Amino acid sequence: MATDKNRRRKRKKYFNLRKGNAWVSTFLFLGLSMLSVAFSLLFLLVFSLIVIDSGIRNEYEAKSLLAELYDEGVSGEEPYLVFDKAGMDYIIKDSDGSILHAAGGNTCREDMGFTSLELSGNILSMHINVGNGSEVPIQLYSDTENDLFYADDEGELTVDFLRLENKMIRSMFGKQSDPLRFPVWEEIKLHGGEQTLLFKTVITLKNSSLAMIAILLAVMVLLIVLIFIAMLIHAVNSAINRNRIHQLLFTDIHIKGHNWMWFLFNAEQMLQKRLNAKKSYALVDVQFVGYRRFCVCHSVDDGEARLQEIYKCLTRLVSKKEICAHSAEDSFSLLLDCDNADNLRKRLNYILFELEHIGNNTFHAGAYIIPAAEKRRLDVDVERDYNCACAACASLDGSDETRAAVYDDKLVEEQRWVDIVENAQQKAVDNEEFLVYYQPKYDPQTSVLRGAEALIRWQSPEYGFLPPYKFIPIFEKNGFITSIDHYMITHAARDQKRWLDEGRRCVPISVNVSRAHFIESDLAEQIRDMVDKEGTPRELIEIELTESAFFDDKKAMLETISRLKSYGFAVSMDDFGSGYSSLNSLKDMPLDVLKLDAEFFRGEAADTKRAEIVVSEAIKLAKSLHMRTVAEGVEARNQVDFLASQGCDMIQGYYFAKPMPAEEFLQRMIAVTSEVA
Ligand code: C2E
Ligand code: MG
Ligand code: MG
Repeated sequence: MATDKNRRRKRKKYFNLRKGNAWVSTFLFLGLSMLSVAFSLLFLLVFSLIVIDSGIRNEYEAKSLLAELYDEGVSGEEPYLVFDKAGMDYIIKDSDGSILHAAGGNTCREDMGFTSLELSGNILSMHINVGNGSEVPIQLYSDTENDLFYADDEGELTVDFLRLENKMIRSMFGKQSDPLRFPVWEEIKLHGGEQTLLFKTVITLKNSSLAMIAILLAVMVLLIVLIFIAMLIHAVNSAINRNRIHQLLFTDIHIKGHNWMWFLFNAEQMLQKRLNAKKSYALVDVQFVGYRRFCVCHSVDDGEARLQEIYKCLTRLVSKKEICAHSAEDSFSLLLDCDNADNLRKRLNYILFELEHIGNNTFHAGAYIIPAAEKRRLDVDVERDYNCACAACASLDGSDETRAAVYDDKLVEEQRWVDIVENAQQKAVDNEEFLVYYQPKYDPQTSVLRGAEALIRWQSPEYGFLPPYKFIPIFEKNGFITSIDHYMITHAARDQKRWLDEGRRCVPISVNVSRAHFIESDLAEQIRDMVDKEGTPRELIEIELTESAFFDDKKAMLETISRLKSYGFAVSMDDFGSGYSSLNSLKDMPLDVLKLDAEFFRGEAADTKRAEIVVSEAIKLAKSLHMRTVAEGVEARNQVDFLASQGCDMIQGYYFAKPMPAEEFLQRMIAVTSEVA
């Protein structure tokens, strides 16, 4: 379970890489650039406000000082006289918001709605419209000498005020060369809030401030442009890199096509789509049998070129809605539409047929059918299902014509059994759970015991008594058969030695040696040492080689047989007649015994004249090659008589005896040998 989770997590990482659009990061970078532009503009705005603020601060300070001074120092006098004198635009309101006085040009005058403004002598009269149709008459007295207006005719002003006024006027209007001047209205409370003074100040932006803002703006713009360009380069670069990573992740460098990761991702997407869930699919594993051998015989480059051709052929054979990829060195994965298992088998056979036409290579295909679903498939696990397809493919051992297998319950059972056997095999050897059974071989003329074959049985504490067909093919596939062969030779030799020590007259015992063993160049020496170690005379052990073993390296085989013979072991060819090149093998190999396959004596054809001719000719052939013959699987008396008449040396079959435990065989041996004695 944990590994399943890890597998999914790892896959998700890859998929995220695949899903993540290269342009997302580009847009992200652009967004960040925009953000930095916005921040820069904000900074510029704040800076400008500070400059503007400092531009009005002087005037504001001067005016508020004037108001304060007036408020405190000349209370009783009407303030507007001071402000009028200062040439200010202003409005004075009382606490109710009624306008008490207003002066100045444009805004002020319009806002206040002056209805009349008249200067006669030294009295300035005006009416101010204060709303509700009411007007307030205002009269000011003019001091023409000082060019001031007073609210009364006393004309008192402090020296402080005058000094301040000059300063204020200077700061108010600034230098004439300053290019930007614009009015702003400010508010100051007078008489403890009883009155409000609204006055117009003029903001003057100095040339130096403007120049600073301009420089700052230029620097900002430059900076933004640089950031923008850098980010753009980075974004484009990362987009290109991302695409490269995608290429690396999802392209197979050997065949220059889609790889397993790509298949995994796309198959999952396809299977998860809601509409596609209504169809059934088949995940298929197509295997190039003997790819490594092909590379050894030709070259790795040739091997890759062949893989490319296979990939091209497969992409041609799948429809647009199906996918295929190179999943491992000698395997291709396919996701095919599938309506039923029979049609799928036909299609797979057609695909294999096409592939085999590329260059006479052998291919196997295993498939797992993913059934249609009512709604979106939620438990899609392509790796798990593809593994089942691979298991189906692996169940094909190449021994028969079947080259395409579909995963089903029977196969699941078989796979489970393989798993059980493989897990238990070593323990079974260690605990001596394998038993040696002996099947006697008799002389058909005299019915005397002449020998026996050691045959394995498994007495498993968990699974009971198991015949060889339940586990020998598994061991032959996984290579454990070599350990079994050692086990059987050792145990047969040990039994023989024990019986000899007990004073029995032993007969030669033949032991099966699998073809898988023949890749070991020192096999003859291994057998010699095993038998010698038990202290058994070598002539009491015979080696049986199955006919299929003769297909492999003939030279090595010949050498091993010769060495075995030189060490004193008899060598027999098992199951003669069950293969195709038996005669060829007979020609080359210096064998001692020929075991006629049980198939000669089975079925309806066994008793025909033709069958008799073949058997009798095989016996003659063996005799002319100075070989003894053993007929296997003989069950009937007439067969025994016939074989006796043809000069067959021994018979191993149920007619005489079935394979039996060592003790039972010993009893038989004692009986027969005492009879003979
Ligand atoms: P094999 O070496 O050809 O062994 C002969 C098989 O034919 C035995 O089956 C035997 O029980 C069976 N047999 C003999 N006479 C008759 C008969 O009259 N009628 C019928 N119906 N069957 C008969 P078994 O013991 O089940 O072994 C099957 C195969 O398993 C063997 O074929 C051999 O290829 C393999 N095997 C058995 N023991 C070993 C072993 O120790 N090592 C290896 N490498 N293979 C073994
Ligand atoms: Mg045999
Ligand atoms: Mg046999």
